[in-house]
Amino acid sequence: ALTAGIVGLPNVGKSTLFNAITQAGAESANYPFCTIDPNVGIVEVPDHRLQKLTELVQPKKVVPTAFEFTDIAGIVKGASKGEGLGNKFLSHIRQVDAICQVVRCFADENITHVSGKVDPIDDIQVINLELILADLESVDKRIERVAKMAKQKDKDAMFEHEILVALKEALEAEKPARTVEFTEEQSKVVKGMHLLTIKPMLYVANVSEDEIADPSGNEYVQQVREYAANEGAEVIVVCAKIEEEISELDGEEKAMFLSELGIEESGLDQLIRASYHLLGLATYFTAGVQEVRAWTFRKGMKAPQCAGIIHTDFERGFIRAETVAYEDLLAAGSHNAAKEAGKVRLEGKDYVVQDGDVIHFRFNV
Ligand code: GDP
Repeated sequence: ALTAGIVGLPNVGKSTLFNAITQAGAESANYPFCTIDPNVGIVEVPDHRLQKLTELVQPKKVVPTAFEFTDIAGIVKGASKGEGLGNKFLSHIRQVDAICQVVRCFADENITHVSGKVDPIDDIQVINLELILADLESVDKRIERVAKMAKQKDKDAMFEHEILVALKEALEAEKPARTVEFTEEQSKVVKGMHLLTIKPMLYVANVSEDEIADPSGNEYVQQVREYAANEGAEVIVVCAKIEEEISELDGEEKAMFLSELGIEESGLDQLIRASYHLLGLATYFTAGVQEVRAWTFRKGMKAPQCAGIIHTDFERGFIRAETVAYEDLLAAGSHNAAKEAGKVRLEGKDYVVQDGDVIHFRFNV
């Protein structure tokens, strides 16, 4: 399963946020395929469409979809040189599919900052530079290996060499690999290099309790926003401490607490949603009277693969996907009405499933 890694310097609020994630925790009985590991937190994906479908179908059971966050502790300056837990840290990052970087934007004199002062941009640069240096090392090694073959006019080697040179140039200018534009063909080769800075990243600005309702006055957040905008990255503002408190509440209490704070959606819910998109994930639904359920798939997956997420038999024996778009189903008011309106399609094995599709799979056993 795809996972988003949470990284950040010491004392920025990672553990606090990760606690909130595990406490808000999904019913793991519903997600037997998820990892059981103290560094992995399973979160349910908040989705208002699930409520609407529930009202429409009135099922016995409702199951949201879920995905995983991985807590990656231990980055310090010098990690790419193997200092501290450096190497271990980098190998953990290598295994995640997207990165959520927690940045300290709260000033609290009682909590030490590793470099002595709160400076979010400096913090971000420390981390990003470690990742860039690690990638530069991989790229340099690879260039050495490929260069000889490229000289002998080996086609593949020449192709790869060109890519590596573009990467090296960016990394040496302290730009992450994801900022380099590649063709589809080139991207495939880049993927095989398992670079750290190719992974999509978002920033989590951790602000204090009294600023969460209106973070616009927080100068640090502004700085992070500007930095992120330059990279085309997203910023989610949270107060990790409050998220930890919210995670202990149930639905109704949570809604009350949020409205008292003057916020519409918890920072954690925003983070979950943003990370889900960052990972390239999307949701389709199954909606029967027994169960209404949201399922996660990777964008671009075809109908049989999506069926296989429910059960391998569904993929093997796939015949058709009876599909209606969520919006169409809702507008029609019932599955039958949608059918009468001609909104229910019978899709075959080449159909690329869309976010919000409500699907009934037909299959042979
Ligand atoms: P980590 O080292 O990045 O995992 O940081 P921790 O989660 O352990 O947090 C470091 C300290 O900062 C702890 O004492 C937390 O209680 C405190 N802290 C974390 N988030 C917040 C926050 O949003 N506001 C305030 N005031 N303190 C926080």
